[in-house]
Amino acid sequence: MDINSPIGKVPLVGSNYIKKLEKLNIRTVKDLLYHIPSRYEDFRKVQKISDLMFGDVVSIQGKIEEIRNNFTRNKKNFQSAIVSDGSGNVQIIWFNQPFIVKSIKIGDQLSISGKVGEFGNHLSFISPDYEVLRQNKPIHTAKIVSVYPETAGVSSKWLRSRINHVLKHVQIEETLPEIIRESNDLVDINTAIKYIHDPENFDQIEDAKKRIAFDEVLDLHFISLARRSAWSKNIPTHKFKADFTFIDKFYKNLPFELTDSQQRSIDEILQDLTKKSPMNRLLEGDVGSGKTVVAAAGFYASFINGYKSILMAPTQILAQQHFLTLKDLLEPLGMSIEIVVSGSKNINETADLFIGTHALIHNKVDIGNIAFVVIDEQHRFGVEQREHLVKRTTSKNLAPHVLTMTATPIPRTIALTFYGDLDLSTLDELPKGRSPITTWLVPEKKRDGAYQWIKEQIDSKGIQVFVVCPLIDISDHDSMQQVKSVNAEYEKLTMIFDRFKISLLHGRQRSEKKNEVLKEFKDGKIDILLSTPVVEVGIDIANATIMVIEAAERFGLAQLHQLRGRVGRGKVESYCLLFSEKRGEKTTSRLRSMTETTSGLELAELDLQLRGPGEVFGVKQHGFPELKVAKWHDKRLINKTKETAEMLIKEADLYHDILNRRYGRIMLLN
Ligand code: ADP
Ligand code: MG
Repeated sequence: MDINSPIGKVPLVGSNYIKKLEKLNIRTVKDLLYHIPSRYEDFRKVQKISDLMFGDVVSIQGKIEEIRNNFTRNKKNFQSAIVSDGSGNVQIIWFNQPFIVKSIKIGDQLSISGKVGEFGNHLSFISPDYEVLRQNKPIHTAKIVSVYPETAGVSSKWLRSRINHVLKHVQIEETLPEIIRESNDLVDINTAIKYIHDPENFDQIEDAKKRIAFDEVLDLHFISLARRSAWSKNIPTHKFKADFTFIDKFYKNLPFELTDSQQRSIDEILQDLTKKSPMNRLLEGDVGSGKTVVAAAGFYASFINGYKSILMAPTQILAQQHFLTLKDLLEPLGMSIEIVVSGSKNINETADLFIGTHALIHNKVDIGNIAFVVIDEQHRFGVEQREHLVKRTTSKNLAPHVLTMTATPIPRTIALTFYGDLDLSTLDELPKGRSPITTWLVPEKKRDGAYQWIKEQIDSKGIQVFVVCPLIDISDHDSMQQVKSVNAEYEKLTMIFDRFKISLLHGRQRSEKKNEVLKEFKDGKIDILLSTPVVEVGIDIANATIMVIEAAERFGLAQLHQLRGRVGRGKVESYCLLFSEKRGEKTTSRLRSMTETTSGLELAELDLQLRGPGEVFGVKQHGFPELKVAKWHDKRLINKTKETAEMLIKEADLYHDILNRRYGRIMLLN
């Protein structure tokens, strides 16, 4: 058995356990050692039995004087034992564990940890942690005991015993040079793993966490740097001329003046287009910051050089909207634009720009000669979808220029690690003339008043309203009963807003229907658009100035911010009304932060702390790495490990062996 052995090599781990351990993502000995305790119980205080007091959480050790099964009248069973340590006796009680009587014998030395309670008028330990001491030191009692993430049939006690066995027999090879351990005050890896599972005190736990967290984040940097280096070995599919005078024509045709950050981002993109390796850039900008026009400049550059481009969007609605916007911007400049969604037929293969959904990946249309690829709202796509699209336009080491765009503000720590392979352009300002959005958390008792106010706003200003509900149908599931469904809500709102035109938009509608509703809303024919969060992404309707969000607690802050960004696009003052069915203090304070800041970045950082990256970015679908010990908001750690990763790579020759051991599979160092 060594660190890389399959878990079945550990004694007492048979096929039954192998299956169960898989649920905890434990497949190898290494996985077991890296199964990090979720918390610890401090059972260090070993007390004389005569000193026990009701309610103490303590340990005792003593000899078994008596042990037996007991049966109650209603055929339940419990087990009782008497333990003595010379100072006195105490009773131990277990319920429904008849096997205990076979595994513990009179005369055995028993170690017990738990809370002192009462049973049958005697001080007793009730269902405590226990173990028989022979030659061994205790591992489940009388010390700091680790408690693990468990699964059915795999208890912390079982994990502890297997980990304890492995710790005695397996060594981990060190993968951090001593000089780095010293300068960062880190213990070696074997010590860290020992400390995390079997600590003598809480300082050791801190030391262990510090080392393991360092490794975790260092690996993230490494993977990013490796991806960056792999990408940089590509050659652009098409050569661009370094002459950008043509772009003036594009600027002249714009209906507005670019913001400084739009101009900066366009410049960065144009520069990339002429470099030796293809662009791999992330354009990040809050909802409404104007990312589309930045991409458009790139499409035009590609066209002027004689090449084609594609723009992939996550929904048909958004693809359709991009199609209309970009037609306005680019057709007058001589470009032809085509839309490709599922079911599109007779696609004009000679178009200069293809806009579509993931149908772009699967459609048989010949989209050869693609020089520039833009992926909008990239976090909505899985990693594979992104790679498929890029692959479709790549051959061998030839790759197109790739720009991904996102409205999810990316906390700096995440930009540095997970997105460390991408160059970043940021739109950090909204176009001039936008008025701020006022957000209210509306208590239920003010709901009628809020509806009245909305009616007045529509009447007096002719504005339009979004109402967003989380789900389509009231689910049978109990916890879902509470959730507003758009269908039920629609009935309700048509009664309340009887003088107004209300329409429904949801993901299960046919796309023609969706487009029709959206067009009507855009044309001002609908007063209130009731929808599921499909509107989250990118819809742009300047006259909609009120956003009502039902069951707001079901959304993350980042998502609420995106939804809110659907309004505030015109010159009229905009409002966001949040309703919540849940009134816990936590929920309220989380939602209140929506009323306190309109900075997407601030909200994303907060979301990251409160709910973790899984909720902010969607871990599973999007390949977002899970950190077991390190914290995403630990800026200091993230900066230090970044420096370390860069140093190690720079000195790769010196650290060749250690890097190879650690990252051989990444093949960073050829
Ligand atoms: P997002 O970054 O959310 O994708 P869009 O590209 O959809 O934003 O732009 C939002 C709206 O702002 C669009 O109506 C667009 O025409 C407009 N817009 C973009 N840039 C500017 C600008 N510099 N000045 C005024 N309006 C702009
Ligand atoms: Mg957009």
